[in-house]
Amino acid sequence: MTAHRLVLATRNQGKVTELHAILGEAGVDAGLLGAADFPDVPDVPETGVTFAENALLKAHALARATGLPAVADDSGLCVDVLGGAPGIFSARWAGRHGDDAANLALLLAQLSDVGPEHRAAHFACAAALALPDGTERVAEGRLEGTLRYEPAGTGGFGYDPVLQPLGEDRTCAELTPGEKNAISHRGKAFRALAPAVRELLKG
Ligand code: IMP
Repeated sequence: MTAHRLVLATRNQGKVTELHAILGEAGVDAGLLGAADFPDVPDVPETGVTFAENALLKAHALARATGLPAVADDSGLCVDVLGGAPGIFSARWAGRHGDDAANLALLLAQLSDVGPEHRAAHFACAAALALPDGTERVAEGRLEGTLRYEPAGTGGFGYDPVLQPLGEDRTCAELTPGEKNAISHRGKAFRALAPAVRELLKG
């Protein structure tokens, strides 16, 4: 039987590979394409105000444009003492989209006087599935932890060097990719979405 085709709203081949493994473990038999396979499909502006809204916006836009079931995610860092910020603004907290070093430096400066007992934070991710007929599903995942005063570790990306998961003495940037995927917000969100993907692709 031919595998179903599913398109993932990212140009990052690493994310496509990671999602392929997660969906495969959940029994989803799907050929996974990335947005890079559809170079004429423009990126959709993230105008939502929650991770779930933005993930759904991206999934629906891609499903409409390609005629294929589409999966998208949106994620960020939520800091308790900042009322959940940077949240959906995580990628451009210091002003310029994707400037990880500046985002991290600004966050550490903002929290420099905040004591260890008030440094709780989590990564959050919403994963969304949209079908070309408008059917949608969304699932969320979190990775809870505390924020360090100084970055540590060279792995990962974004805020990984400052988030120490609960029960760990290393930051996310000091975990192996396998260790991080096993506990990450993205892994949890996609594993939670996988049964819906399996059911809807069947139908
Ligand atoms: P996006 O959902 O991939 O666009 O991620 C939004 C932003 O959230 C990234 O640019 C990072 O700043 C932050 N972020 C999301 N997930 C992670 C993570 O696993 N580690 C570190 N930073 C993350």
